[in-house]
Amino acid sequence: MALKVAIVGRPNVGKSTLFNRLVGKRLALVDDRPGVTRDRRYADGNIGDMDLTLIDTAGYEDVTDDSLESRMREQTEAGIEDADVILFMMDAREGVTSLDEIFAERLRKQEKPVILLANKSESRESGGGVGEAYSLGFGEPVAISAEHGEGMADLYAALVTAS
Ligand code: GDP
Ligand code: MG
Repeated sequence: MALKVAIVGRPNVGKSTLFNRLVGKRLALVDDRPGVTRDRRYADGNIGDMDLTLIDTAGYEDVTDDSLESRMREQTEAGIEDADVILFMMDAREGVTSLDEIFAERLRKQEKPVILLANKSESRESGGGVGEAYSLGFGEPVAISAEHGEGMADLYAALVTAS
């Protein structure tokens, strides 16, 4: 059976980009602007020989008349509940933000395995952000570039360990 993997994190860190890469098709809408609505949230995919069911989540979409925190919660809670393993993504170039810390706090209150991803790690300058990511409390982040497909072997290894 496919491992169910939810990709969770604040808007614009690259969740849909990773979703599309692992699905192998462009099913989720990727956009620079936070708040764009995606067309697809669940899809089958794989990493190496491992079958996955990917769950994309988002922070702003679908509800327009509620607080940021509850919108984020609604989108993310469903993913967390459904998943076997959670990929918690942050942006290595921007470092840890207060919104990342809110996600981290939530994820620490549940039992499922969490793999911390430091995305946008293709550039050398991202090193500082990767270091900061330790402070989120999920151990060593896996540095990846969802856009360029870097770090996928490390992500595979982390998924093997977590599953
Ligand atoms: P989401 O809101 O978390 O789903 O983020 P998206 O997947 O929509 O991506 C937000 C922006 O980050 C888009 O402009 C992507 O092209 C960009 N992005 C995603 N992954 C990477 C990456 O590995 N490196 C860089 N430099 N940009 C990325
Ligand atoms: Mg998205």
